[in-house]
Amino acid sequence: MFEHIERVPGDAILGLIEAFKKDTNPQKVDLGVGVYRDAEGNTPVMRAVKEAEARLLKNETTKTYIGSHGAPAYGEVVLPMVLGENSPVLDANRASATQSPGGTGALRLAADFIATQLPDKGIWVSDPTWPNHHGIFTAAGIALHKYPYVDADNRLDFDGMLAALKQIPEGDVVVLHACCHNPTGFDLSKEQWHTVLEVVRERHLLPLIDFAYQGFGEGLDEDAYGVRLMAEELDEVIITSSCSKNFGIYCERTGCLIMVAKNSEQMENIRSQIAIAARENYSNPPAHGGAIVSDILHDDELTAVWHEELTEMRDRINTLRRDFVEALKPYGLDDKYACVAEQRGMFSYTGLTPEQVDRLRDEFGIYMVRSGRANVAGFSHENLPYLAKAIATVNG
Ligand code: PLP
Repeated sequence: MFEHIERVPGDAILGLIEAFKKDTNPQKVDLGVGVYRDAEGNTPVMRAVKEAEARLLKNETTKTYIGSHGAPAYGEVVLPMVLGENSPVLDANRASATQSPGGTGALRLAADFIATQLPDKGIWVSDPTWPNHHGIFTAAGIALHKYPYVDADNRLDFDGMLAALKQIPEGDVVVLHACCHNPTGFDLSKEQWHTVLEVVRERHLLPLIDFAYQGFGEGLDEDAYGVRLMAEELDEVIITSSCSKNFGIYCERTGCLIMVAKNSEQMENIRSQIAIAARENYSNPPAHGGAIVSDILHDDELTAVWHEELTEMRDRINTLRRDFVEALKPYGLDDKYACVAEQRGMFSYTGLTPEQVDRLRDEFGIYMVRSGRANVAGFSHENLPYLAKAIATVNG
């Protein structure tokens, strides 16, 4: 039965990681992988997380199932984190939270909900987007389409995006990145969010907002601007939130699907359907990551520690963005790469061409994906001069 099965090539990022490990260049730089790195190149466990885990170990009394929607205490803290402390959406009881295995799990639940409950609707993703969006929505059987996002000069193509959104058939789903767009780093301004809202309203589109980097751009509340605007202004919105990056609990698979409905009654109907999707996929979500988040956010002291650590990560990334452009100044390349300082989040579309990316790898041991997407957290004050010199060489 298995003889005809062909091997598919592995993920390009995994190949990059392997090649990086084998490279003997002492100055090699990894700008490929999608996790946060501190100044020492590590992805450490946050102090607030360590403390919450210590308390959990001491106080945990059972490992019983937590239910298809996950722990209520988790939903209780994630909803205000995402929608805001005094959200009118929460006051109206029209948002439902379902704990999920990461943001990926939330996206798959959303995809199954769309495929089963809105069966003839297509879904529109930015071009480019996080590659797994393609995989997840297509696997659920949804017709996938793209809208433009970046122009030929490596800038946000807002006009192109808007023109495309205006052509989307009524009722289709449009995927928006809340902040820290992966892979480009180009985010919508407040004004642009309002413009998108108007088009979404006019065309009766259903927004699905992927919120994987809350707190990595400008701040926890600032990054939620578009999410809160849409949830407050529209009757129906889907939000997929992830705690992987902002709590640094990547392997604990901690996310949340938030379904916003017109009223409490419709929200409960939808919620019952989401429970089925969760049950059929994995029954119950893993408990540990949700318990960490819930314990931190239910405790003022731990919340303060977490805020401090998150701010540290965000400031480090934004400082490195500015310093990268500074480091290119002596080569006259600061204007060309100025976008890196303006983009937000862990990733940047640098504008480096595939050929330049290849040269950076072969001649300098600098690794990034061929699209020119760099993980900014891989920059450091030690490697910036080397990076700048290498970039100047491949531009020469
Ligand atoms: N959405 C986007 C845009 C992402 O970049 C990621 C992770 O890289 C995810 C969702 C999924 O995150 P998680 O690791 O929580 O599944």
